[in-house]
Amino acid sequence: MGIALIWCLALILIKWITSKRRGAISYDSSDQTALYIRMLGDVRVRSRAGFETDRRGSHPYIDFRIFHSNSEIEVSVSARNVRRLLSFQRYLRSSRFFRGITVPNSSNILDDDYNGQAKCMLEKVGNWNFDIFLFDRLTNGNSLVSLTFHLFNLHGLIEHFQLDTMKLRRFLVMVQEDYHSQNPYHNAVHAADVTQAMHCYLKEPKLSKSLTPWDVLLSLIAAATHDLDHPGVNQPFLIKTNHYLATLYKNTSVLENHHWRSAVGLLRESGLFAHMSLENRQLMESQIGDLILATDISQQNEYLSMFRSHLDRGDLCLENANHRHFILQMALKCADICNPCRTWELSKQWSEKVTEEFFHQGDIEKKYHLGVSPLCDRQTETIANIQIGFMTYLVEPLFGEWARFSNTRLSQTMLGHLGLNKASWKGVQREQSGSGDDVDATFEEMDSDILPQEPRLS
Ligand SMILES: [Zn+2]
Repeated sequence: MGIALIWCLALILIKWITSKRRGAISYDSSDQTALYIRMLGDVRVRSRAGFETDRRGSHPYIDFRIFHSNSEIEVSVSARNVRRLLSFQRYLRSSRFFRGITVPNSSNILDDDYNGQAKCMLEKVGNWNFDIFLFDRLTNGNSLVSLTFHLFNLHGLIEHFQLDTMKLRRFLVMVQEDYHSQNPYHNAVHAADVTQAMHCYLKEPKLSKSLTPWDVLLSLIAAATHDLDHPGVNQPFLIKTNHYLATLYKNTSVLENHHWRSAVGLLRESGLFAHMSLENRQLMESQIGDLILATDISQQNEYLSMFRSHLDRGDLCLENANHRHFILQMALKCADICNPCRTWELSKQWSEKVTEEFFHQGDIEKKYHLGVSPLCDRQTETIANIQIGFMTYLVEPLFGEWARFSNTRLSQTMLGHLGLNKASWKGVQREQSGSGDDVDATFEEMDSDILPQEPRLS
């Protein structure tokens, strides 16, 4: 082969490698740096100069890092050498590290007293009034790791699946770290709360007597990872900013697809199930995906009418694996939006947190003239309005059907809290002069894809 031919082949190879890199997930920004983050592969952090002709990402080039930072963002040259699988969240951390910024960590050394109290709480992990906020404080912000590890043990999963406890802990730590602690709502405490709720549902008689260890394993992993690496903004925001993830997932279940793929990345990276056959691992990844994708609230109508039809016909057979997995999807959906079914003290805190996150998105939308999304305008919305609409159109229809499926004390307790909490928010609404008249209108006007129109229960 002549030198010219070898040179030519080398050029083709370089071009091919360069084009392959375009598969990376990118975060573009208006500052001096654009970030190209490769998921499920290596990570490149490059100066924008190298990618002038390949500019992609969001318009108007919103960098997620601005959500939680007021300072000018720079990425040092040394950061270019980062080569490992990084989620957005882990990118943020490494970026801070390379910039020499240490984030104050509330790592007070816990004394035995706190550990003892946390352990004590875990003995009642199946109680519906479990206070996840207190548990998170007692575990020094490690509620997701501590709770999920405990549940794996409690359900005998470590023994049954011959899990390496070091790998399990490492996996759970990675999961917890990939939640954005800066998000007021979609953070690891929400994931821990959903996992705890899922555990309560798994214990319900109808389910517990028919679930296999495999079902329980998938349910807990899906619950713990269902919002992994959530950026703190919703899908419409990603779509209207033309974000790469929206393009990647064709504007459909954009966040849920990302949570699932991120979970798969961590499962593979941790090697937690490396001892299982490839076939089982692939089955696990796809079934976890089915569970996580079911949490897309815009698909609620479809799931709910399927659930209702099954209940009307009385044909759910939990010996059938497909039926069981459908019920687990419904259970995870319930766990995900069960905040209004908790006690007022817990429920109110969640309401405040989710509203804070909505309003934060609204602030960014205003700043960049993107048009403020429904429920995100702090000038016109109130927590009470948002909560009453949420309960009426999404939570009541779902939990009404769940109570038909599993008519237990827990279901009655949840519906009881739901009713009381709604009455409390209505009281707050009445006290607030000049607001609250248009809550139903707001929900009704929203795109039916986002908020399904369900008949009211009340
Ligand atoms: Zn969630």
